[in-house]
Amino acid sequence: MKRWLLACMVSGVALGAAGARAAEPIPVLILDGESGGPYHDWPRVTAVLERILGEDGLFDVSVATAPPAGGDFAAFAPSFSAFKAVVLNYDAPDERWPERLKSSLERYVEGGGGLVAVHAADNAFPGWRAYNEMLGVGGWRGRDERAGAHWYFADGKLVADTSPGPAGSHGKRLPFAVVVRDASHPITRGLPRVWMHGDDELYAHLRGPGGMTVLATAYSDPANAGSGRDEPQLMVREHGRGRVFHTTFGHDVRALSSVDFAVTLKRGTEWAATGDVTQAVPESFPTADAPSYREYLRSR
Ligand code: ZN
Repeated sequence: MKRWLLACMVSGVALGAAGARAAEPIPVLILDGESGGPYHDWPRVTAVLERILGEDGLFDVSVATAPPAGGDFAAFAPSFSAFKAVVLNYDAPDERWPERLKSSLERYVEGGGGLVAVHAADNAFPGWRAYNEMLGVGGWRGRDERAGAHWYFADGKLVADTSPGPAGSHGKRLPFAVVVRDASHPITRGLPRVWMHGDDELYAHLRGPGGMTVLATAYSDPANAGSGRDEPQLMVREHGRGRVFHTTFGHDVRALSSVDFAVTLKRGTEWAATGDVTQAVPESFPTADAPSYREYLRSR
């Protein structure tokens, strides 16, 4: 029985891989170029994102690197519409982008383009209204109650705390449990109900206009400087005709090496790009008891 089951699983994986190869790779663009500080090593993060997204032949990955602070943005005009999704590994203040560039990204998503926000992108652009609407919530860079409510999960639903206070916090980086809140979404379909995410920052107290669907939360433990609440970690949102996948995971290469990071990034990017997910859940996906790591990334 076990052998038969294994044979079925192996052939299922092979069929999935063949299907992915047969289709045209989905063009996606990673956008990087700046971070709020040395704590986010964006070139190394991009290298890993590129490797993860490129490894199955499902995506055709390009990278656009924005000029640094003080750089000349006149010639920086990525043609977003050439891509099915834009993956943001980027954190800059509001004044960095000219209006032309901001409205270019807004029009792209409103017109049906996919957007994927990874970890540091939560920090970017506190005053850019449409950006915060696309992500639903964000933190730091002076955000407070004016950015919107602190959204958290209680009694099976999203709750808004509008009391004043800063936005964005995390404790010491540790593995933590992730709880699926919507198992019917293509991104979370087939994932375990609870799994351990590897050594990462657990973002809490994020604030914003909300409007997102929360796919998974994590409990922010007061014993580790946490909020004592179930905080949104994987989210989706529709913006115009576009789809947004928002993951708070991915502080650095070690965090990116968690198997669940790669799996949810690839599933979220495919969904943002196409509205569906065709990828099988690998057997190496972490369980409720222990995280799992991709050693070749962890050791880089
Ligand atoms: Zn971080």
